[in-house]
Amino acid sequence: MSNGADFNVWKVRSDFPMLQQTMHGKPLIYFDSAATSQKPQAVIDAMTSFYSQHYSTVHRAVYDIASHATDLYESVRQTVKKFINAPYSEEIIFTKGTTEGINLVAASFGRAFLAPGDEVIISEMEHHSNIVPWQMICQERGAVLKAIPINNRGEMILEEFDKLLTERTKLVSIAHVANSTGTLNPIEEIIKRAHAKGAKVLIDGAQSASHMPVDVQKMGADFFVFSGHKAFGPTGVGVLYGKKALLERMPPYQGGGDMIEEVHISHTTFQGVPQKFEAGTPMITEVIGLGAALEYIESLGREKIAAWEQELLKYATGRLAEVKGLRIIGTAAKKGPIISFVIDNLHPLDIGTLLDLRGIAVRTGHLCAQPTMRRFCVPATIRLSFAAYNTMEEIELFVEALEEVLLLLKPSMSY
Ligand code: PMP
Repeated sequence: MSNGADFNVWKVRSDFPMLQQTMHGKPLIYFDSAATSQKPQAVIDAMTSFYSQHYSTVHRAVYDIASHATDLYESVRQTVKKFINAPYSEEIIFTKGTTEGINLVAASFGRAFLAPGDEVIISEMEHHSNIVPWQMICQERGAVLKAIPINNRGEMILEEFDKLLTERTKLVSIAHVANSTGTLNPIEEIIKRAHAKGAKVLIDGAQSASHMPVDVQKMGADFFVFSGHKAFGPTGVGVLYGKKALLERMPPYQGGGDMIEEVHISHTTFQGVPQKFEAGTPMITEVIGLGAALEYIESLGREKIAAWEQELLKYATGRLAEVKGLRIIGTAAKKGPIISFVIDNLHPLDIGTLLDLRGIAVRTGHLCAQPTMRRFCVPATIRLSFAAYNTMEEIELFVEALEEVLLLLKPSMSY
């Protein structure tokens, strides 16, 4: 079976210790990378080596290991800058993850720029973390939250977007790739149209950053956020990119150590960006792990990763189409490596549980995207999501296991 002319997936797999594990005594087939990806040895080693040989705090101490740790920590800012082609390293803010990045922008941009009657636009296919923070800040500021509708394929309806955009639109916040349907959104077009109305744009890159080349300058995003743990890195770390001129006009999100210039009991002055947005002792080892993860991705090549994952997506979509009663939710012309589906009269949870017993990890449920589920009139889906380490053989085994599970479940269907 072809495994891509230029991409050695077996070599990639050998870099991931978790992929050598079993689940219920069966070789693990891990199809839940959209929730969180597995970690290559290079990331585990970088974090172990930092903890065992270089560990200390960053920024505030004069001793040698602290200045070395600071250099390592700050060098990751450079790595991230290169990874997303940001113009300046000060535009890279370390966060806890995508969720924190969006909350930071919602709270800080919201306080600086949202007045009563202003508008924020999201879409019907957003993850809850790109909905709830906007509801909260809009409520606080008296602003209005609107959502771009999606069509039956799960694509944004751009003509409807044009109707929603007004002079009062201050911010548009959109997923690069939707975690529930896999839709790859035309973000350059969305950004162009939003900018023409004077609105800023946040791109939620949780499902794109490790799967395709990302160039924040080319796309023109004002903000771009992603999570380390979905990009082969550790949990507890993520990135917020923001245009410097904009970040400089935004107030701090949290107060505390490291983000201040001078503290008086009556008032405080703040550092510039990025420190202004990094209050407290940061997740130092996790940032080091993130750096190793991004270097690992670069060593594979994002163009090659994207090409391989598209092959997986195409093959799996074709094989699933042959399964009786199966309906794919999200059939956009352009997709990331994600397939959500439902099966007539069967609950995703039952299918997921029986697949688990066969060593297969898939996600079932509303995928933190309840408005999308409502749009497609389903309570939940089964989701397969691929990463660079998945193989055609795993897809074949998955389809066999699914057919087996359906044979087991169908006789019990009396309704
Ligand atoms: N946005 C999207 C599109 C996601 O897929 C996710 C995670 N499933 C998030 C945001 C939230 O990411 P995190 O939980 O890492 O903060």
